[in-house]
Amino acid sequence: MFYNSTRNSNVKVSSAEAITQGISVDGGLFVPESIPALSLEEIRAVGEMKYADRAAFVFSKYLTDFTDAEIHYCTDNAYSAKNFETESIAEIAHLFDGTYMLELWHGPTCAFKDMALQILPYFLTTSAKKINLDKKIVILVATSGDTGKAALEGFRDVEGTSILVFYPEDGVSPMQKRQMKTQEGENVGVCAIKGNFDDCQNGVKAIFTDYDVKKQLEEAGLMFSSANSINWGRLVPQIVYYISSYAELVKDGEIELGDKINIVVPTGNFGNILAAYYAKHMGIPVNKLICASNVNNVLTDFINTGVYDRNRQFYATVSPSMDILISSNLERLLYLMTGKNDKIIRDWFGKLASDGRYEVTEDVKKKLGEEFWAGCCNDEETKAAINAVYGKYSYTCDTHTAVAVKVYEDYKNATGDATKTIIASTASPYKFSAAVLEALEGGKSDIDEYAKVDRIAELSKLPVPAALADLKNKSQRFNDVIEKADQKQYVLRTLGI
Ligand SMILES: *Cc1c(COP(=O)(O)O)cnc(C)c1O
Repeated sequence: MFYNSTRNSNVKVSSAEAITQGISVDGGLFVPESIPALSLEEIRAVGEMKYADRAAFVFSKYLTDFTDAEIHYCTDNAYSAKNFETESIAEIAHLFDGTYMLELWHGPTCAFKDMALQILPYFLTTSAKKINLDKKIVILVATSGDTGKAALEGFRDVEGTSILVFYPEDGVSPMQKRQMKTQEGENVGVCAIKGNFDDCQNGVKAIFTDYDVKKQLEEAGLMFSSANSINWGRLVPQIVYYISSYAELVKDGEIELGDKINIVVPTGNFGNILAAYYAKHMGIPVNKLICASNVNNVLTDFINTGVYDRNRQFYATVSPSMDILISSNLERLLYLMTGKNDKIIRDWFGKLASDGRYEVTEDVKKKLGEEFWAGCCNDEETKAAINAVYGKYSYTCDTHTAVAVKVYEDYKNATGDATKTIIASTASPYKFSAAVLEALEGGKSDIDEYAKVDRIAELSKLPVPAALADLKNKSQRFNDVIEKADQKQYVLRTLGI
């Protein structure tokens, strides 16, 4: 299996090269040249394996330059009881009639990003060895809150790597900020940006593709890579849990092999839902992929009209990990939907960079409508959804998952579709205590962060993850705040070049 760039189909690299580079030199994203197909029997067999082996099976289709031993080295280390609180790794909560919560937040940082970022460092170091890379890898991360912490935990003290994370100063929850500022490890750095997530991500992308920076880095024996979902090594682990959960539902007798399901995903950078799209095209039977957004609803409008327009107000919401106006992974979807038309992708993403807007062809609009349904909701509706789910099922979900719950309700009301449905539950409610507690109690409370955590524990009966409880007394190591224009200088200075 080789990988092409969305902006140049002639680029052809191995998975080890795609993972170490992160992004193609032309600014495009790496995409596998075909989507491997699984038979229904193969999917059923996945249900008989433990999670690490399910992952290894899926990776064997994409990382064909890795040996079996290399793949198992990665999966056995990443998906073990030492990193995840639940044995199943991706736990399915059966709550509603025919609706399943796929809880992806039982890893060390309590968000679904751990599913990929626990394994990415193993992929990366294994890839670097395979291609005889003699450079130290510098991971640059832009985060809307959860990727940063998950990447820091994944890469801390990993030999041959260092990691630097940028987050929007006022764009993350207090717990997310605390998680990053207290990060331990000798090879880690964290810095706040006076701007929003898009500013952080644009800055990082610009540094990645800056020729002068690249040269200076090379001279210093360093190279950049990415832990954002622009890196294929971040995306491929996310395909696993959709295949895994389908197989699990078959095994549990909740669905028959071959039955279609819907998948609802609370969406920001379009990585998680793109992984669901890949799982569908590999062979799990899916009716609709439901894309749920908060009031930063650029994707809702795009899927419904075919016009992507980021020229709009940016809102800070109670679901900050989805406060994004430029969804990077859409580029991969559109590359696939245009039949790998790199020219049209260059045109559209050139327009996005220059005018903030592009419109896709009628053919692509039709395909979007066939595959996806999109909806959005505001903060009040998000909190009402948390309250309603708690009232009805005694289940406490976080703000991002609540957006998915609300949009799924809207979908059912609009379509009458009764297909069984998996909702991707993307974070622990304890990461967003203020909004979650306000939703549960029906009003704001001015008790401190950890008092809120304790109160949620009383109400939800959900154990407080040790990783969050432990942060209470840790000292804050990282307090830098910079202007967005200074990001490049900051990186060079931190690296000592
Ligand atoms: C990152 C994140 C999302 C959005 O996922 P994308 O892959 O960026 O679309 C949703 N919820 C939570 C909790 C997240 O951390």
